[in-house]
Amino acid sequence: MEDGFPFLVFTRNLERHFLIDNLDARRKFFFVMTIIAIFIYNLFLFTDREMLPDIYRTAWQIRLGIVTPSMLIILAMLHYRVFIRYIDFMADFLIVLTASSIIMILYLSHHPNVVHYHTGVILIIMFGNIVVRLRFWHALGVSWLIFFLYVLTVPEITSMPPPVMINSSVVLFSAIIISLIGNYQIESALRRNYLRNLLKEIETIRLEKAKTELELISSLDVLTGLANRRNFDTFLDTEWQMGAQYRTPLSLLFLDVDDFKAYNDHYGHQAGDACLRKIAEVLKRCIHRSRDLCARYGGEEFVVLLPNTDVQSAFQIAEKLRNNIELENIPNQHSRVVPYVTVSVGVASMMPQKTLPPQRLVELADRALYRAKDLGRNQVQVLDDENNSD
Ligand code: GH3
Ligand code: MG
Ligand code: MG
Repeated sequence: MEDGFPFLVFTRNLERHFLIDNLDARRKFFFVMTIIAIFIYNLFLFTDREMLPDIYRTAWQIRLGIVTPSMLIILAMLHYRVFIRYIDFMADFLIVLTASSIIMILYLSHHPNVVHYHTGVILIIMFGNIVVRLRFWHALGVSWLIFFLYVLTVPEITSMPPPVMINSSVVLFSAIIISLIGNYQIESALRRNYLRNLLKEIETIRLEKAKTELELISSLDVLTGLANRRNFDTFLDTEWQMGAQYRTPLSLLFLDVDDFKAYNDHYGHQAGDACLRKIAEVLKRCIHRSRDLCARYGGEEFVVLLPNTDVQSAFQIAEKLRNNIELENIPNQHSRVVPYVTVSVGVASMMPQKTLPPQRLVELADRALYRAKDLGRNQVQVLDDENNSD
């Protein structure tokens, strides 16, 4: 954008996007322009007869037999999206064809009125360069091609005096220069606008991404990388509603590290943190289902939410987690249970109900955990809402 694009091309990839992004709008625009062109072009059927009585029948044949059918074919191609990638060449072709048809009529007539016919060529150039807005490089090629066809043909026209010939060529030349300047400015503005919109889009995407990242960060626990308490609460609410709606059981595991105060006191806070991270790793490793959620509830307490899981399965998962943490064999010399790190797990399972708060499940799991602690730690205890006991 800063460098500008004096040659009206972007870098390869961007240019491709630019063409593709504009293709359909351009197709619709060309379709309307072709209809207008057919109408205007054939208006001259009336003037041909009055202006060039010597060859008006031939002129009609050219207009109705060659040019109008070509325009109709391209109209159909635009409508049915045939060879739509070559849309710019279709427009080029029609402009060159219509201009050539006028030059041809000029050439064939010997009537003095032909001196006025070059205005038709000017109209076509203006239409192509300013109204249809051929791409600049196409406009440039098409305009000069028509100009050379004109200056090559004009000397052959016997009924045109040389001063008129020169004058009409200079007028055509000027019309080309003027319309090309306009065309250049239009395309330059179009490209600038495209880039500006693209930059805006990129900025929006960047902001969205930053927002998602922020949301993710604020929903994660910094120490362990598990979901944090806030995230857990949101998930619990959602899963509680889902469970109530689809009548599926919801289970919750509440894990607490046994004698962790002793661990911290003996090994230091840093080691304590490392130990919590290790436990989190075990949770991540053992919990696979996509809707299951492991979270750090706070301190040395973790929760695992298990949607659509009954109490037996929840117990098995809890036992697996407890066992795997024990197998990590992290020394905890001053533990009252065994000389390595263990966890106690409370398991609760409920059939969610819309009339009850999801906090019921957390309270139940918490009570189960206290029972596990009371019964000697390093074990799983279960409470479900049917009998509140295992
Ligand atoms: P219990 O078996 O009854 O759970 O005994 P406990 O010592 O684990 O329980 P208590 O609640 O008395 O102590 C929990 C300890 O966990 C206290 C605190 O130092 C430690 N702790 C809590 N959060 C963190 C943490 O983020 N990092 C570290 N290193 N320690 C923590
Ligand atoms: Mg605790
Ligand atoms: Mg503890």
